[in-house]
This record gives sequence, structure tokens and C-alpha cells, in this order.
Amino acid sequence: MRKKCLLWFRKDLRLTDHPALAKAIEEGYEILPVFLYEEGGDWPVGGASKWWLHYALESLSSSVSDAGGRLLMKEGGGDVRSSLEEIIEEHGIDLVYWCRCYEPEAIERDTVLKRELRDLGCEVKSFEGNVLNEPFSIESKSGGPYKVFTPYWKMCRTHEVRSLYEYDLSKVRWVMAEGGDALEDFDLLPRIDWDREFYAIWDARREVGERILSDLAGGKAMAYGEQRDLMGVEGTSRLGPYLAWGQLSPQEVWHRIVAENASEEVHSGYLRQLYWRDFSYHLMYHFPHTVSSPLREEWKLFAWKGDGEVVQAWQEGRTGIPIIDAAMRQLWQTGWMHNRARMLVACFLVKHLQQDWMYGARWFWDTLVDADLANNTMGWQWSAGCGADAAPYFRVFNPITQAEKFDSHGDYVRRYVPELAKLPMKYLNRPWEAPADVLENAGVELGKTYPEPIIDVAVGRQVALDAYQRFKEACAGER
Ligand SMILES: Cc1cc2nc3c(=O)[nH]c(=O)nc-3n(C[C@H](O)[C@H](O)[C@H](O)COP(=O)(O)OP(=O)(O)OC[C@H]3O[C@@H](n4cnc5c(N)ncnc54)[C@H](O)[C@@H]3O)c2cc1C
Repeated sequence: MRKKCLLWFRKDLRLTDHPALAKAIEEGYEILPVFLYEEGGDWPVGGASKWWLHYALESLSSSVSDAGGRLLMKEGGGDVRSSLEEIIEEHGIDLVYWCRCYEPEAIERDTVLKRELRDLGCEVKSFEGNVLNEPFSIESKSGGPYKVFTPYWKMCRTHEVRSLYEYDLSKVRWVMAEGGDALEDFDLLPRIDWDREFYAIWDARREVGERILSDLAGGKAMAYGEQRDLMGVEGTSRLGPYLAWGQLSPQEVWHRIVAENASEEVHSGYLRQLYWRDFSYHLMYHFPHTVSSPLREEWKLFAWKGDGEVVQAWQEGRTGIPIIDAAMRQLWQTGWMHNRARMLVACFLVKHLQQDWMYGARWFWDTLVDADLANNTMGWQWSAGCGADAAPYFRVFNPITQAEKFDSHGDYVRRYVPELAKLPMKYLNRPWEAPADVLENAGVELGKTYPEPIIDVAVGRQVALDAYQRFKEACAGER
């Protein structure tokens, strides 16, 4: 009789290029595909990601059906071990296979699970997760992890990207499990209608990710270097959520693009970004505390403020700084924000407004459709100046000049802050400088139709620099 293998899907919601599935097929096992939904933990799935997960699971489930199987879904209820044990017992499972996750909580849980399931008599194997290079497979020349991206990337480029796993799904012998929970029981969809642009933009089916990848490989990847910083242009791929849930493997993305265009421009443009993603996993794996505290320990001494009203104005796009408000509203309406805008709003929150980066990280986590613990942690610590290869704290982005440079026609601000749309470009990003008649002609009444700035940008910059000076002195005093 063939052995039965439970294939546990987690952040690898696809049937193609799947290391654990490939191995189970190669070894000739009968395969029972399982997904367990887990609530809870320090970083429970955020609101926008839940929406994504619902449709990503629907998509995976129908791919499994098309291949002749059935995806068994269960509410893990915070106790994954019992759910797995039940399934193992009910279906006479011999082996459990999964692809590795690198979040600290997942590593801790999986380590214990491996032991416990082996004690039950199951063979347990884990396989590479959703990265180009596993976090522990890249070492600096002196041994140990990298903390700076460029040398990390250079080292990665000496490692070949593995080729894709190929197998014939029509030959798979599936274990057909009845029962489980219905997708709707996970309660992933919002109860209220979000009434946002969100629904029009996103489609979480894997085949849509494939289509986006196709366009990217077909040309967009070439223009990426020139367009990626322009906030009003769709110059980036928006593949983030497909990568975050492993609906596309980074190898699939890499090979598809390289097959069309292997120029150095593409390697140091789009493909380099995939290594930024890997780098964030490298950091999270080697410095697991960073998901909730600064990588550079001394930053625990930094006296962040915690002003609920200020944070709320930032979240709701009511700071009175047009580019910041445009970005925060883009996030709320679409579940996504342009990378440059992410850097600007993060800098504004932690530097001008002096609020703890964790408020921002939590808000992004809940509202981003591509929320990813490794990338989010690195992005926020980079912005706050307390992480690896971080922007130095004293480098404070000026949101106004940044907007004038990277949204030079004002398309982005006009789109997301329509109450300012009629202002001429000269005043769009600084409405408080506009003469009364210009405001009147544009239908803008500061303090009424659009807020007064929450802070003078120049004052905010000085506040940040002064705080940094005090921090440096405090650090020196500690030594
Ligand atoms: C404060 C802050 C928070 C962030 N939070 C997240 C997050 O939760 N999830 C997330 O995926 N990215 C995050 N990023 C990184 C980056 O902004 C997004 O990956 C990117 O904007 C997603 O859009 P895209 O899919 O069109 O990316 P593209 O520009 O098309 O890039 C392709 C892929 O490469 C990876 N990538 C690109 N830029 C980066 C980067 N700077 N760091 C790490 N990976 C990158 C992503 O997986 C992305 O999908 C954050 C950045 C900042 C500054």
C-alpha cells in the first residue's frame, strides 16, 4: 500500500513549483492537501490580508479540484497540533510535509510540532520556504548574517537561482478527505462593505498573478527602473500579495522575467527588489526580536511619543500635508501604497510627528493587502533609523519637495485628496502658502474643507533632529 502524506499549506498557496509537493510526488505518496486557519499570535492576520487569504484559498482549492483532489480546510483554533493529530489519525497519515515559514512564532511552533508529530510515529519533513535563498544559506565572508544590503546582494548573486520544480499533477494520487470547515467559516471577509476602490483593483486568484507576471516579463520590468519611484504612475508590479501568500514563488517570478530579458538593467532593477525581500527574511530569521523591537538595541532608549489623536489623524489622512494624506488614503481605499509613499509616511510619522514606528507597523499590517512581517519590519525600522542598513535618523524626507519631485504633475495627490484637485501645481502640496483668491477659486477652505497642517514641516524636521541629539547624548551617558 502507498504511504499517505499530509501536505500542509501555509504561506505557499500554489500547486506549481512547490518543493514539498514535488518531493511527495517524486516519492510516490498519496497526498492529502490541508490548510489550517490560525487566528491569534502576536501578528494575527490583518484585515486586508484576511480578504486576500479568502480568495487565495478559494483559488488554491479550485486548483486542487481541477487536479482531481480536494483541499481539506480546517479552523486551527489556535491549536494546530490537535487539528493535525486528528487528521493524521482519521486518515492514517504516515508523513507530514510542509514548506518552511521564517516568522519567529512559526519557527518556534514548527520546531515543537516536528518533535510531537514524530512522537506520534509520523515522519515529518520541512522544505525550503518562499524565498530565493533561505535566510541561513547566505553567510558573510566572516561567517554570520549580513546587516547591509549591497554586500548581501552581491553574495546572493554568486548563488544560482534554483530551477523550477516540474511534475505532472494529473498523475498525483490524492487522499480524498470529506468534511473539514467551509471557507466561509473562517470569517475572513469584512462584515461591512468597504465601499472602496479596493475591490476593483485586486483579484487574488493565482491566474491573475500569472497574468501580471506575464505583463511584467513582457516589458514592464524593463521600464521599472525609470518608473518605480513615480507615485502617480503604475510603474511597479503589485505582485506583493501573491508573493506574501506564496501564490507565486520568487523563483517563478525570477525565471519568467529572466527568460524574456536577462539584461543587467533588469537584474539591478526589478530582480534586485526580490533580493530586498529575501534580505528582510534574512534579517528576521537572524534577529527575530526585530518584529517588535529595534534591531539596534540602543534605540530602545529613544523617547517616542504616543499621541493617539496624532496617530489617528495620520491613519485617516487628515494631517494637512497633502502627499501624506494622499498616501494614507490610498492605503485605506486600496489596501496598497506606493513604495516611495510608504517611505514618506513612515518618515513623517516617526520623525516629524515623533510617534513610535510600531504604531505605523501595526496599521500597515492591518491595512496592507501585501502585509508581510519581514518586509514590513524592515521597512519600518529602515524608516525609523533603528534597523539594519537603515536611513540615518538625521536624514529627514521633506514630504513637500519629495511630492513635487515624484508626483510632479500632482496626479497622485489630486486623485486621493480630491478636495485639493483644483489647486494649481504651485500650491497643491503647500496649500497654506496659497493666496486667499487662489484657495477660493479652487474651493478650498483651510481648516474646513481640508485640515491645516498638523505640523510645520520645517519645525517637524528640527523637532526630529533635536530629539536625535538628545538620544545620542542619552546613549553616550549609558556607556
Ligand atoms: C514602511 C514600509 C513598510 C513596508 N511594508 C511592506 C509589507 O508589509 N509587505 C511588503 O511586501 N513590502 C513592504 N514594504 C516594501 C515595499 O514598499 C513593497 O514591497 C512594494 O511597495 C510592494 O509593491 P509592488 O508589489 O508593486 O512591488 P515591486 O516594486 O513591483 O517589487 C516587487 C516585489 O519585490 C519586493 N520588494 C520590493 N521593494 C521592496 C522593499 N523595499 N523591501 C522588501 N521587499 C521589496 C516585494 O515582494 C514586491 O512585491 C514596505 C516598505 C516600507 C518603506
